Amino acid sequence: MSCFIVKGAGVAGLAVAHELLRRGANVDIVDLKETIGQGSSFFAGGMLAPYCETEAAEEMVLKRGLHAADWWDQAVPGAVTRNGTLVVAQPRELSDLLHFASRTTGHVWVDRDGIAALEPSLAGRFDKALFFAAEAHLDPRRALVRLAENIRQLGGQFHFGSRPPSTKNCSVILDCTGPAAIAHMRGLRGVRGEMLHLETGEVSLSRPVRMLHPRHPIYVVPRDNHRFMVGATMIEMDDDGPISARSLMELLNAAYALHPAFGEARVVETGVGIRPAFTDNAPRVVETTEGLAIAGMYRHGFLLAPAMAVSAATRLSKGLRFTKE
Ligand SMILES: Cc1cc2nc3c(=O)[nH]c(=O)nc-3n(C[C@H](O)[C@H](O)[C@H](O)COP(=O)(O)OP(=O)(O)OC[C@H]3O[C@@H](n4cnc5c(N)ncnc54)[C@H](O)[C@@H]3O)c2cc1C
Repeated sequence: MSCFIVKGAGVAGLAVAHELLRRGANVDIVDLKETIGQGSSFFAGGMLAPYCETEAAEEMVLKRGLHAADWWDQAVPGAVTRNGTLVVAQPRELSDLLHFASRTTGHVWVDRDGIAALEPSLAGRFDKALFFAAEAHLDPRRALVRLAENIRQLGGQFHFGSRPPSTKNCSVILDCTGPAAIAHMRGLRGVRGEMLHLETGEVSLSRPVRMLHPRHPIYVVPRDNHRFMVGATMIEMDDDGPISARSLMELLNAAYALHPAFGEARVVETGVGIRPAFTDNAPRVVETTEGLAIAGMYRHGFLLAPAMAVSAATRLSKGLRFTKE
């Protein structure tokens, strides 16, 4: 049976481990941290938004991200919520909404009544919005915990912290170390993303809502227990130190502009993740001296890890014998 070591238990590492195990390989997953998903994946919004993302990304993101929700549904049944995405802007920023519409597909325009029907909490707050019905979202932390459980059930073994893995006869290593690869992979850089979690029972949302703004575009992703993930800054640096006062103020101001009840919400968490990215912001499966690397997931880890994992596993299966292929 083919045998692999996956370095990194973030979304890229877990997705490829699952793909390899599904094909009958023997997989060990190692991570420097004490548990899974503690890297940049921990801070993600969990939006599976291939249509919205093409506003600022290559067409490849749409093509490769289209089946992400199906992959997650199969790998982690019940993890995905398929309620679409709503994109709003204040009436004075209608030109931003028109611009967003011109750069994306897969949406319909909705008016005040349509907005109220989709998101009663936002009734009367916006004149127009774009609704991307085919998009989805998941809770990244929960999804990764459940994906890891399924990996264990398929026979995958985890090795955390300083405990060294038993390398057996594995000759192929998959580097899925996310931002840590910046130190040794040419062309990889970090893009800092600051986020926070708010808790309030005064607002209820069924789907991610993106609010366009010339300086501070934000999104709010609903979680269970009246929590909302508010994100995210995009700063060209790989410093993962605490959120700045300025970013905190800007994210809170934007959330307040989306709904004033967010002004009374509790700030239950702030966080900073580093998005590993190549100059074109497209992820890659890269050949290394030890095997392959899945690198540069940028702001599309949950959206594009499935496609990258399938691509890496297919490449490996051409050169190595799997039990189920
Ligand atoms: C604020 C924010 C919001 C985001 N929102 C979204 C979103 O809504 N949708 C979406 O698709 N994407 C989103 N992203 C992007 C997504 O989070 C990243 O693309 C993704 O998490 C990168 O995953 P990764 O597995 O490559 O890296 P990581 O999640 O960082 O995982 C790398 C792992 O490797 C481990 N590691 C490092 N060095 C070693 C080593 N030498 N040996 C063993 N293990 C090692 C680390 O401990 C870590 O666990 C967001 C990112 C941020 C910061």
